[in-house]
Order: sequence, then C-alpha cells, then structure tokens
Amino acid sequence: MEKIITDLRSLNTTELKELAAEKGEKPFRGTQVFEWLHKKGAAGFEDMTNVPKSFAAKVLEDHSLLNMEPVRVLRDEEDGTCKFLMKTYDGNVIESVLMKYEHGYSACISSQVGCRMGCSFCASTIGGKVRDLSAGEMCEQIYTMQRHEGVRISNIVVMGTGEPFDNFDAFVRFYELITDKDGLNISGRNITVSTCGIVEKIRELADRHFALTLAISLHAPDDELRKTIMPVANKYHIEDIMAACDYFFKQTGRRVTFEYSLIAGVNDSPECAMKLVRLIKGRNAHVNLIPVNPVKERDYKRSGQEKTAAFKKLLEKNGINATIRRGMGKNIDAACGQLRRSYMEEDK
Ligand code: SAH
Repeated sequence: MEKIITDLRSLNTTELKELAAEKGEKPFRGTQVFEWLHKKGAAGFEDMTNVPKSFAAKVLEDHSLLNMEPVRVLRDEEDGTCKFLMKTYDGNVIESVLMKYEHGYSACISSQVGCRMGCSFCASTIGGKVRDLSAGEMCEQIYTMQRHEGVRISNIVVMGTGEPFDNFDAFVRFYELITDKDGLNISGRNITVSTCGIVEKIRELADRHFALTLAISLHAPDDELRKTIMPVANKYHIEDIMAACDYFFKQTGRRVTFEYSLIAGVNDSPECAMKLVRLIKGRNAHVNLIPVNPVKERDYKRSGQEKTAAFKKLLEKNGINATIRRGMGKNIDAACGQLRRSYMEEDK
C-alpha cells in the first residue's frame, strides 16, 4: 500500500500535541518536534536528540517529512545571491533564492510547482501548474537554504514560482508556521506576499489582520493593456483590485506595494506613467519598478535606463513613491522560473 503523505512540517504545535497524544505520548513531545523542525531546522528525527525513537517510528507510520534536496546552487559572486534549484519528495524541481542585504538574509520562495496564471513575460508559467506546495514545503525551502549556507534568514518574499493566492490555505498556514514564537519566529513585517490580484483572497487576507506586506503585480495601468500581458486581468478588474487593496489597508494599516515590470514599448510610455499616477494618487502605496527580465521563450525587452528613470521621475513628480528594484543575481539567471526551465530541458 502506498504510504499516506501527511506532511509533518505543515502541522502546527496544537496539531503536533494532538498527534503525540494519539500516539500515546505526552503532549510536550509535540512541542519538541515543532521546535526541532521549525526553530532548529532539523531535517529528520535522527537530529532530534531528545525525542524517543519509538515515538518517531509511530509518527512516521502515517506522516512524512517532505524535505528538499538542493540539486543545483548558483552563486553570484558579485552580490552574494544564491539561487537554489530544489528537488521535492516527488521529483519535481522548484526555485528558491537567498539574498544578502546589509541588514541580513532574505529568502524568495515558491508557492507552487509551476503556475497557471499565464503572465506573458514570466518563465514560471510556461509549463503550467504541476501542483501546489504544502505549507511545510514552503517553510522547508527556507530551512534548506539556512542549513546549506549556515545562516539565519530574517526576511521572506513569496515571489518565486506560483501564485500564492491560488494556494491560499497553504499560504496562510505557512505564514502562521513561520511567524510562530516556537518556530523561526519571523516578524510579519518582514514578510511580503505578491499576487497577480485574486480579489477575494486579498479581502480574506485583510480579514486575518496579518501584519505582512501585500504586493500587487499590476504591470499595466488599465485593464485593456493588462489583459494583453496578464490573462488574469480578464477575470479581475483593476478597479476591484484597488478596492480590495484599500480594504487591506483599512484592516491592517499596511501600505500596499504595486509592482510594475517595465517592458520596452509595451507599458513604459509617459502616458502609462500618468495613468498609473491617476490610479494610485491618494492611496498609501508604493510603486516598485522592475526592468523586465528577458525570458528566452519571449521576445520582450526591458526598458532602458533612461526610460526607466523617466518613468520613475514622472511618478515622483506627481507625488507617488517609487523605487527601481535593485537587480540581484544578475549573473545567475535569476528571473522567475528560468533556472527550473533550463534544468528540466536538460533532464529530458
Ligand atoms: N504570482 C505572484 C508571485 C510570483 S511572481 C505574482 O504574480 O505576484 C513575482 C513577481 O515577478 C511578479 O510581480 C511577477 O509579475 C514578476 N515577474 C515575473 N516574471 C518576470 C520577468 N520576466 N521580469 C520581471 N518581473 C517578472
């Protein structure tokens, strides 16, 4: 019989205590296991020196640890960025990135294997969605990088492959696990989740009052243009996304970030900038300009430095906060999903 896969790393302390009781152990064993997995980054029971082998055996009867195996690690010697290609328990590959900043280490993690959103400039979506990642697998990307590099990660962006709000329950659980006081205890303020704009999930998240940063992948200032590069724009209108963002701000007091990838000749005109101004004016928001990363399968080109600077200037002149995202890992194929694709092509 095939083993039932219940991901042990996806369980919270309460559930682990219940599990311990079920297996005839004192509840504190559950807390111990949680701390080993989430605070100390244990890869398996063999690391858990104070947990009885008999208990481990009983847990593993109907639970698994969905560990990640780093199969390739690319290092940008210039800025210290490390891109990890990780193999999941079922032989899929996903990407995670470790970035070094002055204030510490930041991780960019994936939320799904592949993606079904279909954004035309993004490499992650080319093969479609294979499956969702579990909450534990999202955590494990962080723990694997910490183990591999011997560092502690203090910032997280959920901006790798996948649409986190298309895997919403797992994302919420991930957030609760990674911010748990008995676990890695990362502050919500140091977590950013990026979405292409699944309106009802933005509202659901707002109602949870998590203190995290919400980033919206806008990339166009009106629905018509947005539809040409993001299929999701056919379902959700910018007006409704904006209303959901206002609601998020009302519920959490957290300023929303709008991501805008500049694609030469597509969305980088002064008219686009002015439309964006009108859209965002009066909102407590921030615009992150990202020169688009060219993807081999597409013929998009990034806007030049001058165009990018002019776009930013127009926003600022009109009272909109904007930054140009610092390119990290330029030397290592860092655009979403490109490493995974080249690996899979070689594998064929
Ligand atoms: N699905 C989520 C999160 C993953 S993508 C979302 O859509 O937000 C993280 C960010 O990278 C998004 O803003 C996405 O639009 C952007 N992105 C994807 N491919 C890119 C590329 N080739 N160049 C620049 N940004 C890209």
